[in-house]
Amino acid sequence: MWLNFCRKHHTQLCSISAGDPVQGFQLIDCNSDNRIITATRNMEYIALSYVWGPNASVDAVKNGTLIRNRLPQTVRDAIDVTKRLGYRYLWVDRHCIPTDSQTKHSQISQMDIIYKQAQATLLGASGDGADFGLPGAESRQRDEQPTAALGRHTLFSTLQHPKVKIWKSTWDSRGWAYQEAMLSTRRIFFTEEQVYWECRSMQCTEAHPPTLAD
Ligand SMILES: [Zn+2]
Repeated sequence: MWLNFCRKHHTQLCSISAGDPVQGFQLIDCNSDNRIITATRNMEYIALSYVWGPNASVDAVKNGTLIRNRLPQTVRDAIDVTKRLGYRYLWVDRHCIPTDSQTKHSQISQMDIIYKQAQATLLGASGDGADFGLPGAESRQRDEQPTAALGRHTLFSTLQHPKVKIWKSTWDSRGWAYQEAMLSTRRIFFTEEQVYWECRSMQCTEAHPPTLAD
């Protein structure tokens, strides 16, 4: 909903320059068994920024297709979220950057373009590795909002601002995290407590969702 609102109403500040993809740019086709495909001009995609962690396996590709049950949970969740957002293509560094060293280095040096051209970036700001998942996607429940019963009333504790969780996260301690977030026009943070949206024109939390007129 936040994404649709942004696309529809923030046409100036949040417009994304689709341009040509970087050379040899590859994406995961979430509608076609997670096949890795070579991107063509104007292919809209979602990007993932996350923490790989020490234990995640890299051997998830077979015949150019990602084997879902060998993928770390965060990547599986990102595929599901991409589809739920209405997109078909997802970019995940570990699976989409080609392995030949020349293309690899050229793409790493153009990371800014990759994040700038993404329609939105999913930021896994929770857990300490790629097996943690994206809280709020199906695999992982969120921490419950604290409540207290007082007579006939239930009091809900206000959740702290998600930025507090984000600043404390392992994701934020990565050198690249800040750049990846800042280069992206639309950012969807997944914290243990809630999903937090940030674009160039608005910020929204699940705990205090704004009323968005259509
Ligand atoms: Zn926006």
